Amino acid sequence: MTEEKAKVVIVGAGMAGLTAAAYLMRENYNVLILDKNDKCGGLLQTFQSGGFSFDTGPRAFVNSGIMKPILKDLEIDWEYLENRISVGVEDHIVRFNSIDSLEEYKKMLINLYPESVNDIEKIIPLIYRLSEYTKVLYEFDNPNFTTDLMADKKFLIKKLLPWTFKFLNALRQFNKFNMPMEVYMDGLTDNQSLVDIILQHFFRKTPTYFALGYFHVYLDYFYPTGGTAAVVDLLKNKVLKGGGEIKLNRNIVAVTPSEKTVTDSAGESYAYDHLIWAADLKTLYRYLDPAGLEPEIKEKVQAETERMFAAKGAESVFILYLAADRPTSYFEAKGGEHMFYTPSRIGLGETNRLERENLVRDFDSKTKAEVMEWVDQYCALNTYEVSIPALRDAAMAPEGKTGLMISCLLDYDIVEKIEQAGWYAEFKARLEDNIIRIFSETVYPDLADDLLFKFSSTPLTIKQVSGSSEGAITGWSFESEVPVVNKLANIPKSVLTPIPGVYQAGQWAYSPAGVPIAMMTGWYATQKILKESKRSRGK
Ligand SMILES: Cc1cc2nc3c(=O)[nH]c(=O)nc-3n(C[C@H](O)[C@H](O)[C@H](O)COP(=O)(O)OP(=O)(O)OC[C@H]3O[C@@H](n4cnc5c(N)ncnc54)[C@H](O)[C@@H]3O)c2cc1C
Repeated sequence: MTEEKAKVVIVGAGMAGLTAAAYLMRENYNVLILDKNDKCGGLLQTFQSGGFSFDTGPRAFVNSGIMKPILKDLEIDWEYLENRISVGVEDHIVRFNSIDSLEEYKKMLINLYPESVNDIEKIIPLIYRLSEYTKVLYEFDNPNFTTDLMADKKFLIKKLLPWTFKFLNALRQFNKFNMPMEVYMDGLTDNQSLVDIILQHFFRKTPTYFALGYFHVYLDYFYPTGGTAAVVDLLKNKVLKGGGEIKLNRNIVAVTPSEKTVTDSAGESYAYDHLIWAADLKTLYRYLDPAGLEPEIKEKVQAETERMFAAKGAESVFILYLAADRPTSYFEAKGGEHMFYTPSRIGLGETNRLERENLVRDFDSKTKAEVMEWVDQYCALNTYEVSIPALRDAAMAPEGKTGLMISCLLDYDIVEKIEQAGWYAEFKARLEDNIIRIFSETVYPDLADDLLFKFSSTPLTIKQVSGSSEGAITGWSFESEVPVVNKLANIPKSVLTPIPGVYQAGQWAYSPAGVPIAMMTGWYATQKILKESKRSRGK
């Protein structure tokens, strides 16, 4: 007689939910995914407009020794393409082909800030060092997904053990560089512009090891043929082929652990043996009904709820989508497929600190002109991430034309206040016009004359699409206390909640997060369920 497998309900069909489902299908669990949207993928979508394909989420993926091994482990065949990163400031552009490109980066910085040459001489070796530690973490395929360890003794002795020592050392080093990047850089230079140019495309207060070690991550990027959402389709098809069920347009508005059910906005309830919440965590605690739980569990749930609501999602993004009547070869020669570009060496400085804080705090006393002045300054001094899908996969744009995404970090609360003030459309248009003008005057001369169409999305769009608190694109902000696990050594615990039968997964379950962590926590949640099933069978 075949054993009846437990029913697992997964809320959220993003990368975390889909990964968890694909692993549970492999173990023949009875899996149902529920998502409020009309398609899978969450933050990660690729869409068509006027013959051009654009990506809404990551501009490309970082493997991190996680993503490719998971897809291989799930026996998903797929194709991916090279994705090279460039870093540009004004008319200097450096392409990262290997870690030695840091020499060119150093030359660029010295060219821009000759007065700070001694500081740059101190900063670059630190970047090298932290990038080397990052390499240890990223270059090795995560052993959880690679091989049957006990069966492959040669791998265990020759590869895994030596790597484990290097890995533990890298973690120790990272712990020494856990302080916010701004604080650490303060001790290395007084040149605020130099600090901004190196750091301002990271979330505020990013740990130093992550920001300065990121130069190795530049070498780890790749792009799936057909766009980033190709991976979503592959995972979705794997789940469906294995017999899993995905119900879309189901907005979950109640979680009742005492009954082991979740309920959607149409009033339909879904029973589970295990629940994986692979969506925004504030939403989980907002909709959680603790009635019927033991008093001590209720207390823990209450404490967890308070921790979640005291924290904030990280900065969000403004994305400008452009279709240009220029061939891809034009853009190839100007930074290529994926570039972090800063049009001015001055750096954001106080625009992104005191002035932004004052703007949010005193918004009601500011005139529209004053806010727009801040917006203009923010655009002029910011760093932009430029992505060109057709420079990786030619099929992503009509021949002879190019689609671009140009994005910058932007705080949700500013946009929310502007929307409440009633001039959201005007604000969006101002950002679009500013960015087009800035790029037309700098790296892509006269681009404005060759545009076929444009549109944009804001932090409000992100919140609407994924249900992400504060429109955050990668989970928790580093500016308030992070309410989830944030040490790599503890990542297996990141999926635990105080709620009986409920696990959490995705970008909110661990910090810092992104696609690899979303997938990894999806896998960890399934491992906990497998263990629990074994335990209850043994009883
Ligand atoms: C512009 C941008 C750039 C990015 N760049 C990078 C990058 O360079 N590298 C990187 O690793 N990551 C990057 N990310 C982040 C990455 O896309 C996310 O971390 C990852 O996709 C999160 O996956 P997830 O499954 O945890 O969550 P999500 O993708 O947010 O999925 C959650 C799902 O839950 C659903 N949901 C929410 N509430 C409910 C509810 N009440 N009921 C039912 N369903 C619900 C949502 O509809 C959504 O489908 C970027 C994201 C953006 C937007």
